[in-house]
Amino acid sequence: ACLEEIARRDSSINAFLSLQEETALETAREVDRKRKAGEPLGKLAGIPVALKDNICAKGATTTCASRMLEEFTPPYDAHIVEQLRAADAILIGKTNLDEFAMGSSTENSAFQTTANPWNTKCAAGGSSGGSAAAVSAGFTPLSLGSDTGGSIRQPASFCGVVGLKPTYGRVSRYGLVAFASSLDQIGPFARDITDAALLLETIAGKDQRDTTSLDAEVPSYTKNLEKPLENLKVGYIEHLHEAGLHEDVKAATQQALEVYKSLGAELIPVELPHAKYCVATYYIIAPSEASSNLARYDGVHYGYRAKQFDNMIDMYAASRGEAFGDEVKRRIMLGTYALSSGYYDAYYLKALKVRRLIRNDFEQAFQKVDIIASAVTPTPAFEIGELVDDPLAMYLADIFTTSANLSGIPGVSIPAGMSQNNLPIGLQLLAPPLEEERLLRAARMFE
Ligand code: GLN
Repeated sequence: ACLEEIARRDSSINAFLSLQEETALETAREVDRKRKAGEPLGKLAGIPVALKDNICAKGATTTCASRMLEEFTPPYDAHIVEQLRAADAILIGKTNLDEFAMGSSTENSAFQTTANPWNTKCAAGGSSGGSAAAVSAGFTPLSLGSDTGGSIRQPASFCGVVGLKPTYGRVSRYGLVAFASSLDQIGPFARDITDAALLLETIAGKDQRDTTSLDAEVPSYTKNLEKPLENLKVGYIEHLHEAGLHEDVKAATQQALEVYKSLGAELIPVELPHAKYCVATYYIIAPSEASSNLARYDGVHYGYRAKQFDNMIDMYAASRGEAFGDEVKRRIMLGTYALSSGYYDAYYLKALKVRRLIRNDFEQAFQKVDIIASAVTPTPAFEIGELVDDPLAMYLADIFTTSANLSGIPGVSIPAGMSQNNLPIGLQLLAPPLEEERLLRAARMFE
């Protein structure tokens, strides 16, 4: 049924870059056989799941929406793909993204732009726009994305679905193509909190192959989901919401806080004095790590190689020059600059120090409150083409999301309202490290 819906409607959404139709149907038949034979079945038996196309699955192309990896088929599964297969899930396809996950609209994809299922003139958000749109359009009940600075939460907000970024290290990054390794984290998209909790408990946990993955027990996130949190203290960030917030987003956020109040929660203003530096800090650290991670695409080890070149250096330059898009080149230049000797102390090192201050702000805030509620993005979905020529405006919209990545804490976007022109608006909830259970229960209360 999912494949039929995709065949019928994805030409107007462009959520998928590739479909694994045959293997999906094969898995479905195998699950059916097991069920009939009375064999034990996994947690996600027979449930279709789509993967952002920067997550490796054996035998399926993993393009990162880049000409560089257009032909790349990984010979191995990402850790989370192994977990999904073990849970008897059905992998149906790979979804569109901004090239190498750099962007907020999927307009930086080398292949196609994903439309917002609520209004196809509008962006689905990004960089995991394909995964968000696939769930929003009803193509698949579950999908996975990656969030380096908001790429799960922002498209979830634009498309009216649930999107969760786990604690840094909660989910193994083995098999996720690296963008900014100290910020990247894989997480679920779903129609509701219960489904997101189920998918998260399937993929979370320690993996030897990712040394930053945490050796902490994975609770059953679905188990206590229906139990409301008592004496819940909800923090809100007053000053961040003053400047540049769209009226409808402001109203939806305000209303959401009222909902918590009516559920018996206490609303407490919190100070995050360094939050205003998040975007500046993020756009030094993320491009710096990206410039290093993307050095591996040299035309030799992976991916595209130019046809014409004079010598080895020229081959590197021509391959990278021809295969990377403008935004990727912009990030590589920014990052190389910030890391170069003479500028390292002034930019990269300074950014690391500010990152620590941002993290400390959250540690202090969470002494007073259990969760922090805020907007996800300053506006509802913008139109396709509206911001694409203004990268700085696009970057500035990451004001509410990047702080969670810089401080490693979990965050979720849940549908909270609609704008006057009928576009979804999300609410962001943040919790201390490894408190996904609290986050999900708080979100479920709101739902
Ligand atoms: N919009 C941010 C960026 O362009 C976040 C991307 C992400 O989380 N992958 O870098």
